[in-house]
Amino acid sequence: MKLWTRLVPQQNVPLAPRTTWSIGGCASWFAEPGTAEELQILLQDAACGGMPVRILGGGSNLLINDGILPGLVIHLPPSSAFDQLTLSDTGLHAGAACSLARAVRASVDAGLAGLQMLAGIPGTIGGAVWMNAGTAGEWIGSCVSRVKGFSLEGEKIDMPKGSWTPQYRSGGLPPMIVTDVFLTMPRADAAELQRQATTALKQKKATQPLGAKTAGCVFKNPENDSAGRLIDEAGLKGFEEGGVRISPVHANFMENTGNATAAQVNALIGKVQETVRAKVKIDLKPEVVFWR
Ligand SMILES: Cc1cc2nc3c(=O)[nH]c(=O)nc-3n(C[C@H](O)[C@H](O)[C@H](O)COP(=O)(O)OP(=O)(O)OC[C@H]3O[C@@H](n4cnc5c(N)ncnc54)[C@H](O)[C@@H]3O)c2cc1C
Repeated sequence: MKLWTRLVPQQNVPLAPRTTWSIGGCASWFAEPGTAEELQILLQDAACGGMPVRILGGGSNLLINDGILPGLVIHLPPSSAFDQLTLSDTGLHAGAACSLARAVRASVDAGLAGLQMLAGIPGTIGGAVWMNAGTAGEWIGSCVSRVKGFSLEGEKIDMPKGSWTPQYRSGGLPPMIVTDVFLTMPRADAAELQRQATTALKQKKATQPLGAKTAGCVFKNPENDSAGRLIDEAGLKGFEEGGVRISPVHANFMENTGNATAAQVNALIGKVQETVRAKVKIDLKPEVVFWR
């Protein structure tokens, strides 16, 4: 029996170029559906074939294993039906492939408050909602009022606010492919929002290695503490092993300084966890998502 009834995914597609870390092997199967219907059929086909499904956004928070990744990787392409952005007086509706940067810019220009502090965070708005991206004090989940998409088996999902609970760096959504994000946002002075966005971006540029190949913060901050500070105090800031360096700019970032592999990053993650645990008895929990 034919596995793919409509869109036939590509095979053995390299994923490293699709991540900000530039690390990882190949997807066994890789597809870019252009419409919701194509996406639904792909998911149904994969479910029928008993194939695991993963969704790739901007690849800015992912550690993808070396070698061949089993199953189907779906990427909602930019400049497709999944990339639209519509503003209203009370918020915005974005396709999951819309870049977070574009949504931040458009909402700030329109005088809609809620995303301005997220200026400088890479990736898509779908990834941001899944991860509940944000700063120390604010996250996107506070203004998400509805999420639409598909279950991994291809059933439609429509979730109004209150049916999931965003937490620190976790959107709290059920396993799903987010296709549409609706934000409810209060009106505010556009010039003031612009000032806040510029300040947030300046702060990021001053404290994070934005020019390096990284996936942002590797570890979540423990309650009332900072993972970067703990790693720094454990003496690991600037430590380099096998093409991966703990950033000399911000110790919670790991930089790919050459041709680092996922195995090398995993080894360094383990070393950081062990060292910090031995020193201060705190277990650092990864913020990055592992694809194994
Ligand atoms: C330089 C740098 C700075 C960063 N600064 C911050 C920061 O200040 N705050 C912060 O919170 N994060 C930060 N990050 C991390 C990252 O940018 C965010 O987590 C971002 O929201 C991830 O979005 P993405 O589209 O790249 O997701 P990806 O990395 O592609 O995926 C991350 C997870 O989201 C899931 N996902 C992606 N799209 C969808 C979808 N449509 N439906 C369902 N699941 C989906 C993936 O399956 C995966 O589990 C930073 C990263 C970098 C490289």
